[in-house]
Amino acid sequence: MSSSEFEIIRRYFTDQQSSRADVSLGIGDDAALLRPPEGQSLAVSTDTLVSGVHFPIDTTPEAIGHKALAVNLSDMAAMGAEPAWFTLAITLPDSNENWLTHFSQGLFALACEHNVQLVGGDTTHSPPHAPLSITIHIMGFVPEGQALTRSGAVAGDRIYVTGTLGDAAAGLQVKQGKLKPTVSVAKKLLGKLEQPTPQIAAGLALRGLANAAIDISDGLNADLGHVLTASKVGADINIDKIPLSDNFQSLKLTDDWQLAASAGDDYELCFTVPEVHEKEMRHRLDTLGCAVTKIGIVSKQKDVRWIDGAGKECELSLTGYDHFL
Ligand code: ADP
Ligand code: MG
Repeated sequence: MSSSEFEIIRRYFTDQQSSRADVSLGIGDDAALLRPPEGQSLAVSTDTLVSGVHFPIDTTPEAIGHKALAVNLSDMAAMGAEPAWFTLAITLPDSNENWLTHFSQGLFALACEHNVQLVGGDTTHSPPHAPLSITIHIMGFVPEGQALTRSGAVAGDRIYVTGTLGDAAAGLQVKQGKLKPTVSVAKKLLGKLEQPTPQIAAGLALRGLANAAIDISDGLNADLGHVLTASKVGADINIDKIPLSDNFQSLKLTDDWQLAASAGDDYELCFTVPEVHEKEMRHRLDTLGCAVTKIGIVSKQKDVRWIDGAGKECELSLTGYDHFL
């Protein structure tokens, strides 16, 4: 490793650390040494962000730092896991100090908020014109047997989502100049796209109550679809119940539910709860100040039916995001 790479690691990634008691050895050796708590499963997940694919190239470095960690934290939330540690593999076109300063500020602000510690990584220089790539590997804990998997949904379960859907997709259209709302609406929608809030507290509160959960990264249709496939069930979704923010609604899009049901990047949770746990679930999430909306019910027939308030079945013509389609 060249000294400039070593300098980057020291200045931007090592010195800003908060330290956790369960990290015996952090950045600086050939591997980190970590102590997971007894009786808990280690939840492990990886997500990569590539410029031009996962975020527009002109995204601010703070937002990139925030989002790279947020999407990984969101996977912990979806498992009902408490995040603890992460590694960062970054491939940089150059060692622009201003970029690194702001990137690490965005990253560590969110890391501190959730008490997660960066314990290692890899820093490499990309060839000319190659995109910037950031891979975060996150680890967390969940008591054995209590993880919120995708496969536990049962016919009759109520289907819920946190927050509102579609804001990030609208934010992207604002960024691309396809939508031109007021400055304040644009700012809120862009905020949802660039600085999503991982629903960690909600994920923890759903332990023991939700039968299945997933985070909405590729769109409700695609992600709910993963839960239904894994659980071998289907769903009836009331399209009028899909929660839309005031900002989103102010755009007055035709068939706005279609965008909200198919577009990704919201990082809200979608989960199923048996009727007996509905009250307790609402109580816990209300206490956290986390908005939840019941959007439908798990059914035996193995497909999704999108139904309007009048009971008419509607066709979803947009689909979720798939990198290989
Ligand atoms: P090695 O050559 O043994 O793979 P490196 O020279 O790549 O080690 O890294 C030296 C130390 O710095 C290791 O502890 C590694 O985990 C850490 N590190 C490298 N890049 C990063 C990064 N981007 N963020 C955090 N830690 C990093
Ligand atoms: Mg290395």
